[in-house]
Amino acid sequence: MPHHDHLSMPAARARPAADPSAGPGPVPRAAARRPQAFTDSREMVALAVQLANAPPGNTPAEAAVTVGWPRLREVATPADLPLLHQAGRQLREVFAHVGARRDREAVHVLNRLLARHRLRPAIAGTVPTDRHLHVAAPGATPAAEHVAAAVWALAVFLCEQGIDRFKTCTEPGCGIVFLDETTNRRRRFCSPRCATRAHVRAHRSRRRTVTR
Ligand SMILES: [Zn+2]
Repeated sequence: MPHHDHLSMPAARARPAADPSAGPGPVPRAAARRPQAFTDSREMVALAVQLANAPPGNTPAEAAVTVGWPRLREVATPADLPLLHQAGRQLREVFAHVGARRDREAVHVLNRLLARHRLRPAIAGTVPTDRHLHVAAPGATPAAEHVAAAVWALAVFLCEQGIDRFKTCTEPGCGIVFLDETTNRRRRFCSPRCATRAHVRAHRSRRRTVTR
């Protein structure tokens, strides 16, 4: 009975944040994990956001994509980087359109991504306890499969949760995108760090106004 790779690996087994200078590096295909788009959709949504936040183009960005997501790092090879970058740029466009209140354009870009990264779901496993879904497209690399699963998961998220949850951090110069999962959908910052910076600045400007 061959071992089937699952994405639902406990966090403890995830590779610790690796040496960024090491780059993606070739990984033996045997170690490749295949995504289960439908059972790990939360994780795939997070990957979509991670890809959107990877700066496009240069070498450190290439590392950022793969190092920032340990599981993708396991399966990505240098040959996958153009695809990862392109997907990342387009995913970022989705958030940018939403931020500029161009929801239709955002949906259009996400539809393009869906068309480009098609799922070919299939049930694998021969015994009842081992049956699970793969999204394998014939000939696609494991990294390409991750992207397909991530795009799909983000599309499901958009339809189920609403496009207004797609946010870009409002702290000037930050630009990190995130999904606002708060009840009131009014989250403005990517992180407590950006929120603190904004609050400190607001506080200082109030104080200046008072002392003037
Ligand atoms: Zn931020």
